[in-house]
Amino acid sequence: MKTFPMFLRMEDRTVVIVGGGEQAAQKCRLILKTEARIIVAADALDDELAALHRAGRIEQHDGPITPALFADTALVFIATGCPGADVALHALAKQAGAVVNVVDAPELCDAITPSIVDRDPVVVAIGTEGTAPVLARQIKTRVEQMLEPRLGDLAALSGRMRGAVAQRVPRAGRRNFWAWVFNGEPRQTHARGAEREAAEMLKSAIAAGGAPEAQVGGSVALVGAGAGRRDLITMRGVQRLQEADIVFHDRLIDPGVLEYARRDAERVCVGKAPGAHPWPQDRIDGLLVAAARQGKRVVRLKCGDPGVFARGAEEIAALAGAGIPCEIVPGVTAACVAAASAGTMLTERGRTDALVMATGTCRPGDTSPDMSGHLRPGTTLALYMAVQTAPAIQRDLLAAGHPTATPVEIVANADREDMQIVTTTLGGLAASMEAQNVANPAIILIRCLKTMTHEIGATAVA
Ligand code: SAH
Repeated sequence: MKTFPMFLRMEDRTVVIVGGGEQAAQKCRLILKTEARIIVAADALDDELAALHRAGRIEQHDGPITPALFADTALVFIATGCPGADVALHALAKQAGAVVNVVDAPELCDAITPSIVDRDPVVVAIGTEGTAPVLARQIKTRVEQMLEPRLGDLAALSGRMRGAVAQRVPRAGRRNFWAWVFNGEPRQTHARGAEREAAEMLKSAIAAGGAPEAQVGGSVALVGAGAGRRDLITMRGVQRLQEADIVFHDRLIDPGVLEYARRDAERVCVGKAPGAHPWPQDRIDGLLVAAARQGKRVVRLKCGDPGVFARGAEEIAALAGAGIPCEIVPGVTAACVAAASAGTMLTERGRTDALVMATGTCRPGDTSPDMSGHLRPGTTLALYMAVQTAPAIQRDLLAAGHPTATPVEIVANADREDMQIVTTTLGGLAASMEAQNVANPAIILIRCLKTMTHEIGATAVA
């Protein structure tokens, strides 16, 4: 190692930043996260630094710069944006024996600022000794996903409880207690925002002298994987996958998403191919209940959002019936992914101010949906599961008076490598789909603009 990672104490210490422009402001943003006193040495401050100065967050030194300015500092940043001046200022800071970082001059740096994942007081610093900044950013992204946004608060809470734990929990049970806090219910509860509940759990366990016995009865999270590649899942979704003992997943998810689960977690594909039903819904419901009853943490991983055309209601009802706690973790639904992939908006002020998400395939025996009723002026209609029924939908909408020129976009395999985008009109919908071999999964976006003044159906437009 050419550099050695250490955490510098910042409380009651001074950091000097030389420079009054953007480079100095960048370093200032970083150090403002700490408790250090910040002195910015510059004759003139840019707007951001000037505002920080007015707000009393930083001090300004606008006199001549001598080594005395740098004496007894925790850290010095030289960031004037002028390489010649930086070299001279570096020499002055070194005369005072300061630890110096000179922006864009690694050869003059005693200290290099790492990439930081900040869950204060939990801080992860990533460095590559300047060899691969892009790699550092990639690692940072992965670590950001691993650590839920509220983790720092849980660590701070634990810090406040350490004394009480030392008093009330016998030494032999302490490791187990903290493992329970960070692997078990308290962390899950805290991560989903129930901070007071998590604190109560800790307090009652401390009062009881240790972590509760393994809880009987597991839990289920219905997690949306997003409709697209693996990085569309939310950080909360990744967290649930990392905690899961078993994952029941759909066929449509990106297989890469399963890599977020622990290596030893069981994975079961309960996907349904269109038309085929190898896994009847009640069998899936039964499996979820049975796994949770064995005390497992279960993730039911669904493509897109678990609340959109995903039969989540049946699973929730089965779990509620069995008294099993169930959390819903939202995901990016296919309509949003399709629109984003096509570079379009789902709503647009003055043109479309309503969004209807509808399925083109209903339960066998149900009356088919009234698509014209869905497609009022000013509406974007996002059709799921409508590849097979597109010709009938086209016929019904045209018969109801929608113009053949109504704009239509079809996005198949949105956000995937094999994505296909077809831009057409209502008149050309079925023919373009056939000509371009559009297959499932696809979203059909039909826009009835507010400005379209045609008559739709006999009763439609009032
Ligand atoms: N819960 C999912 C929808 C499941 S229904 C969600 O919120 O997105 C299955 C339908 O979703 C497919 O028939 C298709 O219409 C749509 N879909 C899912 N993934 C898709 C993708 N990557 N591209 C386009 N459509 C997709």
